[in-house]
Amino acid sequence: MTVAMSADPLLLTPGPLTTTETVKRAMLRDWGSRDPDFERLTASVLQELLLIANAGTDYAVVPLQGSGTYAVEAMITTLVPREGRILVLSNGAYGQRIITICERSGLKVIGYPVPETEVHDLAEVRRKLADDPSIHSVAVVHCETTSGLENPLDAIADVVIGAGRKLFVDSMSGFGALPVDAARLRFTALAASSNKCIQGVPGMAFVIARRDDLAQSRGRCPSLVLDLEAQHRQIEADGQWRYTPPTHVIAAFHQALQELREEGGPPARLRRYTGNRDLLIEGMARLGFSPMLDKAVQAPIIVSFAEPSEPWFSFQRFYDELKRRGFAIYAGKMKVGGTFRVGTIGAIDRGDIERFLTAAEQCVSLMRHLAK
Ligand SMILES: *Cc1c(COP(=O)(O)O)cnc(C)c1O
Repeated sequence: MTVAMSADPLLLTPGPLTTTETVKRAMLRDWGSRDPDFERLTASVLQELLLIANAGTDYAVVPLQGSGTYAVEAMITTLVPREGRILVLSNGAYGQRIITICERSGLKVIGYPVPETEVHDLAEVRRKLADDPSIHSVAVVHCETTSGLENPLDAIADVVIGAGRKLFVDSMSGFGALPVDAARLRFTALAASSNKCIQGVPGMAFVIARRDDLAQSRGRCPSLVLDLEAQHRQIEADGQWRYTPPTHVIAAFHQALQELREEGGPPARLRRYTGNRDLLIEGMARLGFSPMLDKAVQAPIIVSFAEPSEPWFSFQRFYDELKRRGFAIYAGKMKVGGTFRVGTIGAIDRGDIERFLTAAEQCVSLMRHLAK
């Protein structure tokens, strides 16, 4: 797979990420936002997202202008009632962000933080839910992009739904590749965005939500623009977004969804990303870089590596030298520090990872040489 301009580095980042040339080209048209063609485009995108999530007629997809966090905040502030408590399972910055959203909007939140390299003790979750009937819902991050960890969504859903609570999922960096089956998971709502595993460009996010919960949340959201129920009602009524939609982004997203289908849907995409990840981890190990996570919890989305502690290594120099060779990597975000990340999602395949590894090897040799 190739990028449009050879001067642009390949983005080995978790979104924005490398998109195909055809996705980029889909943006070369101006759409009237109130034109029937554009309404059809929106309707087709929403329909396709429902199919990907295996969501039946009891679910609706509500799109939202903005980055992924807009959708997470819209989901929480529209669909979580003021009176109930929300338990947030956190093992990274995105779980913490949900807690912050709850605090900022005055929701009663209980955090259950565990270290960034670990998953939650589900017996403990079960206990917390049994002990506190005031907990109305549970929120969880599917793939914690902070570290690259995949939380066990199926098992978490079993505990939460089994305890009669509502489940909210931030599947931002997983949706489109990691399996999401609404009929099985029975979540109340799940948020994701255009610029991660669906391989669109940034600017649009969406929430897949139960229709009855949406209907019951009328007037609840304290924000005008983040009111998912109002956005949903408008789109249902006349097919239109409430405020100016990012038309070019949606056209690119429509194209990206078509390419996802042509590739073979989320299972095929997951296979490609898994191949990328395995090759990356293996190749980086040969260069002396170890992943921060245990294999059992490492998602095929992004990999956090420990920076070598020897004086020859400098992240800034590594980044700059890789970029000169056509690759952009990602700074680390884990609390422990001394990490960097390499994404394995986007329009990239094994050949790209092999080329990246060759470039990384050159950079390592150069840095070692300069340190002598
Ligand atoms: C990318 C991401 C988000 C949203 O981040 P934005 O910068 O607002 O797009 C939320 N949660 C997770 C897990 C993510 O990876």
